[in-house]
Amino acid sequence: MRTPLIAGNWKMNGRRGDAEALARAVEVKVAALSGVEICVCPPFVHLQAVQSVLSGEHVALGAQNCADAGPGARTGEIAAEMLLDYGVSHVILGHSERRAHYGETDEVIAARYQEAQNAGLIPILCVGETLAEREADQTEAIVGGQIRGVTERLEGTGLGNGVIAYEPVWAIGTGRTATADQAEHMHAFIREQLAMLEGHANASARRILYGGSMKPANAGELLAQPDVDGGLIGGASLDADDFVAICAAA
Ligand code: 13P
Repeated sequence: MRTPLIAGNWKMNGRRGDAEALARAVEVKVAALSGVEICVCPPFVHLQAVQSVLSGEHVALGAQNCADAGPGARTGEIAAEMLLDYGVSHVILGHSERRAHYGETDEVIAARYQEAQNAGLIPILCVGETLAEREADQTEAIVGGQIRGVTERLEGTGLGNGVIAYEPVWAIGTGRTATADQAEHMHAFIREQLAMLEGHANASARRILYGGSMKPANAGELLAQPDVDGGLIGGASLDADDFVAICAAA
């Protein structure tokens, strides 16, 4: 069985005090939950502050990216191994905001993925189509291409212990969520693609998260789908009550 994972992507929000308060509130409220893995991903500069308020028992710590190379001449980047010093276990990679605003390609995302894996981090690889791509009936071609574009560039370990996050770009921060049927269709499609790339056993063990305007009101239905193994939560992860309600629905 796949243990659900709910990861909060705080994106570029909050000052240090906000991050500490949010982490503290989440830590307290999730203590009673079981059967779900929970992770919060603050901005890099708040990792140490958040680590210091988490017990490490209930809530894992994630980063929002890592460098595509080891330590050295990469101004502005953070090497995967540096994240280990802050208790980071997960790292979001290939988020659509990184692809759209910073030109991250499958090639660079694969290099980041490889670095994350080599450091022992759990990569959360984001894929998803834009509204124009969906309307042009390109959803499967785009998402399948993104999965292959990273997987085929990875060395022997393949996707290893990584997690996939299906995040339709048109549903991110828009309040417009994929329906449960749309999400399940794409998650099943992704699992089929994975089966071709890494075999059925690996594909059926791999967690596939949904992201895009997931909130307490729709989380139950989305998370009940057979191939939806958790969520990558943006806006709703900035409210401890909303985030914990989603964790409770998993
Ligand atoms: P929202 O939940 O705000 O739509 O963001 C989703 C997301 O991008 C998580 O990575």
